[in-house]
Amino acid sequence: MLSPKKIEYFKGVVDARIAELEGTLEAAQRETRTDAARHADPADQAASEYERQAVIHKAAAARQMIRVLSQALERLRQGTFGECAACGGDIELKRLEAIPWASYCLKCQGAREQGQTPT
Ligand SMILES: [Zn+2]
Repeated sequence: MLSPKKIEYFKGVVDARIAELEGTLEAAQRETRTDAARHADPADQAASEYERQAVIHKAAAARQMIRVLSQALERLRQGTFGECAACGGDIELKRLEAIPWASYCLKCQGAREQGQTPT
């Protein structure tokens, strides 16, 4: 079980990360809006379309990450943070410090990555 101090710490980390990603998302949205009107040349348009796709991809990744982080925040609020979603055991503190939004312990994560069902 995590101490209230640790919970506060992780809340801060996750909150900061969400704010950062929201900034990325806003910048990406601004870019996709202004880009379309800027290029008249077809070659420029093709390049710009490529860039636009990259920005859209980046925005989608940021949005997905925000979702994962929000879930971690929810677990922090409900007091289930640090519990493995698969086996219900504690997620290693070292692992949480490296990846605060981790929802599986090392063993279960390893099993998932190998495509096995954790036991
Ligand atoms: Zn586990």
